[in-house]
Amino acid sequence: MKKKCGIYICSGCGIDAAVDTQALIKVAEKELKAEACHVHPFLCDDSGLELIKSDLRAGTVDHFVVAACSQRFHQQSFDMGPEHMVLRAPIREYVAWMMEPRDENGKVNEDTQMAAADYIRMYGARVKRMEIPQPFEQDTIKSVLVIGGGITGINAALEVSKAGYPVHLVEKQAELGGAAKEYRSFLPQKAPYRDLEDNQLEELISRLKSKSDISLYPSSTVDAIDGEPGNFTVRIKNGQSQKTVAIGSVILATGGKSYDKNKLTHLGAQFKNVVSSDEFEAMAKTGKLTRQDGSPAKTIAFIQCAGSRDKNHLSYCSSTCCMNSLKQAAYVRQIDPETKAYILYRDMRTPGLYENFYKKQQDDPGIFLTKGEIAQVSEDGERSILIDLDNSLLGDQIQLKADLLVLATGQVSSLVDEESHLNLGYRQGKDLPDLNHGYPDSHFICFPYETRRTGIFSAGPVRHPMDINEAKRDAAGAALKAVQTLELTSMGKSMHPRVGDLSKPDFYLARCTSCKRCTEECPFGMLDEDEKGTPRPNPARCRSCGTCMGACPERIISFADYSIQQISDMIKEVEIPDEFEEKPRILIFACENDSLPAFDMAALNRIRINPYIRIIPVRCLGGINLVFVSDALSVGFDGVMFMGCKFGDDYQCHFVKGSELCNERLSKVQETISRLNLESERIRQFTVTLNDYDKLPEIINDFVTEIDAFGPNPFKGM
Ligand code: SF4
Ligand code: SF4
Repeated sequence: MKKKCGIYICSGCGIDAAVDTQALIKVAEKELKAEACHVHPFLCDDSGLELIKSDLRAGTVDHFVVAACSQRFHQQSFDMGPEHMVLRAPIREYVAWMMEPRDENGKVNEDTQMAAADYIRMYGARVKRMEIPQPFEQDTIKSVLVIGGGITGINAALEVSKAGYPVHLVEKQAELGGAAKEYRSFLPQKAPYRDLEDNQLEELISRLKSKSDISLYPSSTVDAIDGEPGNFTVRIKNGQSQKTVAIGSVILATGGKSYDKNKLTHLGAQFKNVVSSDEFEAMAKTGKLTRQDGSPAKTIAFIQCAGSRDKNHLSYCSSTCCMNSLKQAAYVRQIDPETKAYILYRDMRTPGLYENFYKKQQDDPGIFLTKGEIAQVSEDGERSILIDLDNSLLGDQIQLKADLLVLATGQVSSLVDEESHLNLGYRQGKDLPDLNHGYPDSHFICFPYETRRTGIFSAGPVRHPMDINEAKRDAAGAALKAVQTLELTSMGKSMHPRVGDLSKPDFYLARCTSCKRCTEECPFGMLDEDEKGTPRPNPARCRSCGTCMGACPERIISFADYSIQQISDMIKEVEIPDEFEEKPRILIFACENDSLPAFDMAALNRIRINPYIRIIPVRCLGGINLVFVSDALSVGFDGVMFMGCKFGDDYQCHFVKGSELCNERLSKVQETISRLNLESERIRQFTVTLNDYDKLPEIINDFVTEIDAFGPNPFKGM
C-alpha cells in the first residue's frame, strides 16, 4: 500500500540559525512529493506534536519524518503509536550543530544547506519504503531451567521463584551445594566486612526445598535442549530414566573448578605436604590441620597466584585466591592460636570493602604477609617444605620452612574439559561459543550474563572467576534476565541489545541458494537448516542485529523497517556535485551502538565537522552488505567510511561478531575495487567508541585529505 508521508521540520534549537528551513520544505514537496510538509519552531512542544497528530488523525499522513533532533532525544514524544512509522532526520546534530552556521548577514552556508537537504531526501525516501514490524507469535512457556545446584544455581532458582515463575533445577550430584559443601566458613558478607560468616548452605537448601514452584532433579544432567527462547524442550536424564520438560529460558550455573594442582610442580605440587586451597578447606572443616603423616602442622605457608597470572598456566588473575587465603589463614589461627600462617604474594587483591578483612588479618601477630617472587620450592629430609623467596619485603633472598604449604590454585570454568552441560540442538553446535580460557563468550562490559545463545544466561564462576558473594549477585542478575526473556518473548520482542525491537528478518527463501552464509554468520545461532541446507529461522533466538542481511549475497533477507532497499535508497538520494565543483562526498555508515552516539556527543559539544560527509546509521556493521559499497561508488561517493566497535579477542561489538564480519567482507570487496582501477583505500573501516567523539573531525578530515589526493571518483555522474 502506498505510504502517505509527512515531513516535519523543526526550526528551533539553533536549526534556523544554520539552515533555510523554508528551502527544505520545497525539497520535501517537490522532490519527495510528501503528503504534508511543515516547519515548526518547536516540534517537540505540545503545539508541534499536535501538528503531527492532527495530520495523522485526518489520515493525510501515516508515516512521517521528524527533521529535528537525533533519535536519542524525545523518543517517546514522537512515538505516535504502533500504526505509524517515524524516522528521525537529525539535522540539528548532523548539520546545524556541527556545520557552518549562517554568516553575519544571515546568509546560509551552501555546504550546510546541501547537507540538510540531503538528509531530508535520504530519510524521506527511506520512510516511504518502511513497513510496520509485526511481532512474531509464540506460546511462551514462563518457567526457567537452572543447571547447577551450587550457591549460584540455588540463589538463581530462589530469585526466579521470588519473581513468581516456576523453576526446574538440575544438579548432577546427589546433593545440592556444589563446592560450598566443603567450606568451613563463608567470606564476610556484611559491613564492616571484617568477620567470616558461618556456612549458610543448609539454610539455603532448606529454603529452596520449601518452594513448591521449584522442581529439583538431583543426580541428573541435561541431555538435550531444543527450540528457542520462550519455547525450549529439555530432556533431563537421571541414570536410565528420562523426563522432558518445557521451559522458556535457561540459567547455566555449573560453577568453576580449581586449576589442577598437579600441573604446578615448579611450586612443589609433587611433595607430600603440599596441598591445594580446596584440599586445605576440606582439612580445615575437620578442625585439624595436619601434615600427610598426621602430625600437627604448626607453620603453614600459602603461595598466591599458584597457576594464575602465569603464561604457562592461567594467564588471568583468578581474583578470588587472595581473599580465600586470607580466610584460610584466619582458620589457622582459629583452630590453633599457636600455629603461624605465612602468605607469600605477588600483589594482594582484595577488592572493595574486603580490604577491611585484609587489614584485620594484617593485625594478627600470627599471620605474616610478604610480597616476593618464588625462586624455588623444595623439601627437606623431614618432608618439610622449603620456600626460597627473592625480592621479598623481608630481604632480597630468604628461605622459609613450612610444615605444610597451600597452593592458592586459580579458578577454571566448569565448561573446560567437561561433557556439554547444555547439549543444544543448534546448527552452530551443542555448546556456548567460548572466547578466552573456555569462558563463555559474552559482552563483558555491557551485557555480562548474556551468552551468544539468546535466552541462555550464564552466572557464577562458570562465566568468570568469582567468590560466593559475587556469585550470589550474579545469580540475581541472571535471574532477572531469564525472567525478562520470558516477558519480552511473549510479546514477540527482542532481547539485548535491541530490547523491545519487534523487527525480525524476513527470508525470501524462493531465491535462497542455500549458500549457508546466514546460518554460519549469525552470531546468535538463530538459524538452523533443513535437510537441503535452506535456513530455518527460530525468531525468538534473533537479536535483530541485521548481520544475516549483510551476509546474504542474494540480498533476500530484510526487516520491515530496515532493509537493503531502504539503505540503498538513502545512498541514492544524496545529491552528488560534479567533479568540477570540488565538493567531495564521503558516506559514513555509523553503528548505532557507539559510533552514532559519538556524533551526538560531538554535536552537543558543538564540534565542527567536515560538511562533505553524509551519515547513515546501521544497527551493527555486521549488517553491511557489499551492495552498499557498489551503490555508493556507482552514484559517485568519493569514499566510504564504516564506523563501528572494536573487533577481535577483546571486542566491544555489541553483536559480538558484527564489526569483525564487516572487516572480513570489506577485505574481499577491496580486491574487487582495485580490479576496477579504483583505490582500495577509498573504502575503510574505523573503530569509533563513544569516547572518541572529539577525535571525529580529525579521523574524517584525514580520510578526506587522503581521498582528495586520489582525485574524484571517476564513476561520478555516470
Ligand atoms: S544475524 Fe542477527 S538479525 Fe540475523 S538472524 Fe542472527 S540475530 Fe537475527
Ligand atoms: S545467505 Fe541468503 S542465499 Fe545464503 S543461505 Fe542465507 S538466505 Fe539463502
